Amino acid sequence: MMRGRRPGLDVSMLFELLARRARDQGDGETAERSSTPDDLLLSTSDKIDVIQALASYNARRVKQMILAINALIILSIINNVIFDRGLWLSLAAGTVFCVLFLARRYYDTDRPSAAQFIFLWTIFGAVTYITWAGDGLRDQIIVGNAVVLVFSAILATPRHFLVMYMAVILNTIALGLANEFGWVDYTHFAFDWSNVGDAVMLYSVTAVTVFILAYDMRQLLARYNKEYRKAKASEDEIFRLANHDTLTGLPNLFMAEKKYRDEISGRHGPKASVLMVGLDNFKTVNDSLGHVFGDSVLKMISTRLADVAGKAFLFRVGGDVFGLMCTEATTPEAVAALADRVQKRVSAPLEAGGHVIMLTCSLGGAIRANGSVTFEHLRREADIAMYRAKSVAPNTFKLFDETMNNQVLASASMAAQLRTAIEKKQFKLFLQPKIDLESGKIRGAEALLRWFPEDGPPIRPDVFIPVAEDTGMIIEIGAWVIQEACRQCKEIQSLGHTDFAIAVNISAIQFKRGTLESIVMDALDSCGLSPESLELELTESLLLEDEYDIKGQISRLAAQGISFSVDDFGKGYSNLGNLGKFDVATLKIDQSFTFAMFDSAQDLALVEAIVRMAKALGLKIVAEGVETQRAASMLSLFGVDSGQGYYWSKPLPESDFVQYLDAYDGGKAKSA
Ligand code: C2E
Ligand code: MG
Ligand code: MG
Repeated sequence: MMRGRRPGLDVSMLFELLARRARDQGDGETAERSSTPDDLLLSTSDKIDVIQALASYNARRVKQMILAINALIILSIINNVIFDRGLWLSLAAGTVFCVLFLARRYYDTDRPSAAQFIFLWTIFGAVTYITWAGDGLRDQIIVGNAVVLVFSAILATPRHFLVMYMAVILNTIALGLANEFGWVDYTHFAFDWSNVGDAVMLYSVTAVTVFILAYDMRQLLARYNKEYRKAKASEDEIFRLANHDTLTGLPNLFMAEKKYRDEISGRHGPKASVLMVGLDNFKTVNDSLGHVFGDSVLKMISTRLADVAGKAFLFRVGGDVFGLMCTEATTPEAVAALADRVQKRVSAPLEAGGHVIMLTCSLGGAIRANGSVTFEHLRREADIAMYRAKSVAPNTFKLFDETMNNQVLASASMAAQLRTAIEKKQFKLFLQPKIDLESGKIRGAEALLRWFPEDGPPIRPDVFIPVAEDTGMIIEIGAWVIQEACRQCKEIQSLGHTDFAIAVNISAIQFKRGTLESIVMDALDSCGLSPESLELELTESLLLEDEYDIKGQISRLAAQGISFSVDDFGKGYSNLGNLGKFDVATLKIDQSFTFAMFDSAQDLALVEAIVRMAKALGLKIVAEGVETQRAASMLSLFGVDSGQGYYWSKPLPESDFVQYLDAYDGGKAKSA
């Protein structure tokens, strides 16, 4: 598992984000409609907010208008008294005053509909009364009906407004009829200054009303604009998240594909190439130094890649893989030159969190052969080339060619062949002795798996174990290995080598599946082997797993008497301090140290330092890859407990191993 992996958002994640945003904002109905552009700008709940804001603006304004109208009514009563326009008119004005006051109270007691109803019909009633009692259709107050209609259009519901409108029209017709048929006498119309007062008041009310309503509208528009900007900003953020990798901020695969579609694809599109950049052994960096460190390394690498990318489009595929899409470098030579620049830049020493590390990368390139090639196709070819490069050696570049496709197919066919191998029992377990460097005695052996296909040469575990791990078949194969190792060990013990112990390599997948404990205990039971005769070899990176209760599994098996060793120690970014937390008894120094021991004083010092530190932690030490007497002597001198290697014996089939055991006199070891 690549724990530093932070995949960029893809399309499905974008939709998930949109749906989540809608869910957060309201009910399910909103969620279903949330992907329409309108809703992105102003969601339903935003709209409800605007309507509520409008209602509260209206209530406040109507209350202010009632106050103003009531003030005008008082002035009008004074006007009536001064110009002696009669008591009835003043009484009517007083009634209107009281009713409007009541409407204002309704607003205060949270009954805005009733308040609006009273307000509108009172104004209408007053205007009607004055016109009927005054000069009919020629009365200036008749203009008040226009004001009533403006108010009702703004305040009332559409149905209420329609009723009001009909009332105004019917009233106007009724006044006309009254004039026509002389029901009321309107012939006495004559000017006096109170008419001017009425007109001024009427126009003032209209002007102020329209002004404040327009002001309210402006306020609402400003608020709407603010909401719009907020919605737009979150829309931009969603776009950014969906198209960029969150850790490095680089465009993601989705964005790269979009760019390819927009600018490159098609028959007349420019020539293009894709270069995949995969960091070598990044998992080890992550496992040994933690993901926080791993994340900062990825960020630094992304900056370095941006430095050398030039006009190429840089994107992150995910985990430790980046991509470059170019329309400039489109010949094999140009792509190789770009790959070379990337390799040089990436491999410069990196400093982060107090550590200095050196990373390399493997690169795979693919060039667009013709217009029909899709981004996915080109990327896949570059990917295949990158994995091919990785399999050759770290820090390698490979350009895709058709033969690579065949190799991919070969790996797929190996998976199929492995299935047959399990069914046809084509596996054998070889044994390689482990020698006690002090006494020269054989302490036990490591069980190493061999595959003998029916129609071909034997296949090395290095080749097929990764395929078995990828396909999960390692569970079945590993269970067989444990069973067979226990059987062989018991067999050898029964031949008189009673102290003989066997070591079995365990894949991380076997631990993660959670069935290892029962498989091991069942195998011991069925063979009648004591747990002390079994050792399990695991990889160091497994001890850095947080999940799967690895520590618990090891402790429980160790409590039964089974011992554990860490294989290939020193291969990655090793962490001796971490070993102390686990029930691990032995450290197997990786054979690369043994091979390099005499290359330089530094390598020799390194082996010595590892041995000293491991001893300080109370661990036993096994050295792998011992091919010469000189190496065996030196390791013994350093205090290494056991050795394993071709100097004593290659891994042997069971029967040959038994012969070797019987013939072994410890001479070689003693001579060391
Ligand atoms: P390993 O566990 O580190 O095993 C040691 C490897 O080094 C073996 O390769 C062994 O043949 C080889 N070797 C031993 N002495 C010398 C030496 O003096 N010189 C050189 N050059 N090589 C030496 P082998 O058998 O090809 O196994 C390769 C790896 O495959 C093993 O490395 C182990 O990680 C894995 N493997 C083997 N059997 C199993 C198995 O049953 N289960 C699992 N999960 N992995 C296995
Ligand atoms: Mg091993
Ligand atoms: Mg090893």
